[in-house]
Amino acid sequence: MQNVFINRSVSSMNKEIELRTKKLREEINRYRYLYHVLDRQEISDESLDSLKKELFDLEQKFPELVTPDSPTQRVGGAPLKEFKKITHEMRMNSLNDAFSKKDVEDWITRLENYLGYHLASAEPFYCDLKMDGLAVELIYENDTLMSGSTRGDGLIGEDVTQNLKTIEAIPLKLGTDNPPKRIIVRGEVFLTKKEFSRINREQEKKGEKIYANPRNVAAGAIRQLDPRVTASRKLDFYAYGIVAAPEIYKTHTSEFKTLRELGFKTNPNGQTVKNLEEVFVFQKKWEKAREKLPYEIDGVVVFINDNQIFSSAGIIGKAPRAAIAYKFSPREATTIVLGVNIQVGRTGVLTPVAVMKPVSVGGITITHASLHNADEIDRLGLKIGDTVIISRAGDVIPKITKVLKELRTGREKSFSMPPRCPVDGSPVVRDGVAYRCSNQNCAAKLREAIYHFVSRQAFNIEGLGPKIIDRFLDEGLISDAADIFELKKEIGEIATLPHFGEKSAENIVNEVESRKKILLEKLIYSLGIFHVGEETAIALAKRFPSKSIGDLLETFSKLSLEDLQKIQDIGPKVAESIYGWFREKRNTSFLKKLEEVGVVIKKEGSLAKSDKLVGKTFVLTGSLSSMSRDEAKEKIRNLGGEISEAVSSKTSFVIVGSDPGSKFERAKKLGVKILDEHEFRNIIK
Ligand SMILES: [Zn+2]
Repeated sequence: MQNVFINRSVSSMNKEIELRTKKLREEINRYRYLYHVLDRQEISDESLDSLKKELFDLEQKFPELVTPDSPTQRVGGAPLKEFKKITHEMRMNSLNDAFSKKDVEDWITRLENYLGYHLASAEPFYCDLKMDGLAVELIYENDTLMSGSTRGDGLIGEDVTQNLKTIEAIPLKLGTDNPPKRIIVRGEVFLTKKEFSRINREQEKKGEKIYANPRNVAAGAIRQLDPRVTASRKLDFYAYGIVAAPEIYKTHTSEFKTLRELGFKTNPNGQTVKNLEEVFVFQKKWEKAREKLPYEIDGVVVFINDNQIFSSAGIIGKAPRAAIAYKFSPREATTIVLGVNIQVGRTGVLTPVAVMKPVSVGGITITHASLHNADEIDRLGLKIGDTVIISRAGDVIPKITKVLKELRTGREKSFSMPPRCPVDGSPVVRDGVAYRCSNQNCAAKLREAIYHFVSRQAFNIEGLGPKIIDRFLDEGLISDAADIFELKKEIGEIATLPHFGEKSAENIVNEVESRKKILLEKLIYSLGIFHVGEETAIALAKRFPSKSIGDLLETFSKLSLEDLQKIQDIGPKVAESIYGWFREKRNTSFLKKLEEVGVVIKKEGSLAKSDKLVGKTFVLTGSLSSMSRDEAKEKIRNLGGEISEAVSSKTSFVIVGSDPGSKFERAKKLGVKILDEHEFRNIIK
């Protein structure tokens, strides 16, 4: 019976997921081996964490896939054998991590539950930068540094006194007239970014391995058996705490003050804040500013400033309850490339853009990344279906920096530039590293088409001016007008563009969303069919009412030239243009795409708010002083009237503004009723 059950569960389990977990395990173990045994780091810790997270999530969902050798089953390391061991008098704790505001709020709730009372709403916190370095403990007796150790497993660390003594920021003697008899100081050893680059430049010159990040160099230097090597890495140190009873230092702030008096450096950017809101502001501020700091940080540390509360909250697991590390979102992560889109830029150059499984990098969700050109795809060796590392430094748009080829299953597909332009079907020609549409007008036409599509008489999306459309086209955020309705997926990416922010990105997306319902005539007009202006679009909509885009497609693709010419104002030229448009596959697929992205046709009734002018036809000539021509037309239509471009005996009224044209003369000749602006305004009142 059991066998049957197992077989069934295996066969129902997605084979692909099974293969993926196997590949992930192998790859994570390979990176571990490279790092720990061969001393080589091929991908960043953040990318490795990203892979581990994926494996962990899969194993949570499919526990039958967990194997004893899975990297997720591994627990912390033991101190190295070479150093003497030092038992910490008080355990060196680590910190629990928070990754979101909610995590931080939950932390406070848990803390309050434990304490059994609510913290004051203005409970001060001490916020510090979370240095990406190595925690150490220093013991001073009679103002002299006696010993220094690493954290190790928290209880027992390594005696690295000699190495720590090479760090100039660590005082060997305390600089005060009245030194405490014995004091235990904790802090972080770190390497500046500048020193890190210097060391790597030297390594490169010597033909030796390049270090992946400053923390690795700092950790490596502290564990050197030869202190001269440690001394050659100009390490730095910030003190962050004193091990003492809570009665001695009432707050974290007072600990920091004492540390400075004793001659230690503390991080000058640490500060007390008044409440949780200010904690969030502090974290956000430093997430933005981290690139400008001379050293690496990976988050902020938040303490309850009151040491009495801090102490009574105690420890959970290996971390104090009253502190948390609020991490920045990683600047690197792994994801999967689902496809490659082709973008026709402003200059007619075809740019490949990778479409990816959504992933959060540097605080924003990423769904696509420009691959720049075909050479870049070759350089990366990218195939569709590949797992890639996506990186984001600072406030710039993220990019794919590496393909993890070992994770391939064999089903990945190669990509090559298309022989024909996706916009107009013209042949594509190679031009240096670029591929270009051979039709010189192609790019301009595409842009013009999108400008027209969003114009007031069409979809009326005011927030999308030509400059923004150009920008979106160049960044690969849109490749045709229909993509505008998918911008909500890219809101994070829009916010990272120069001159944009979260607010303006949100505004654009909201405006676009509100324009998805459109009148049939406006939709027809928006398509930019040659010779089809507003009036023709209205005539078409009246003659062939359609309830949906599918309906519209079906009706119009069946119309003959004669059917079209039966409509008033539509001559042979216009009829041919409409007839031809609905017979081009590119156009019909565009309409289908509009339907897919959620564009729907509004009921006619919502346009005409009254039937006051039903059956009346108006012609406008000259300019009006109190409103634009478009506003005048809209008012007439709202009252059920019709607009015509040409004056005929069927015209009910000709509205004459200043500097009227030949239509005025014709109206007089035909005896059509003429209205001046004042009379017109009385009618539409
Ligand atoms: Zn083209």
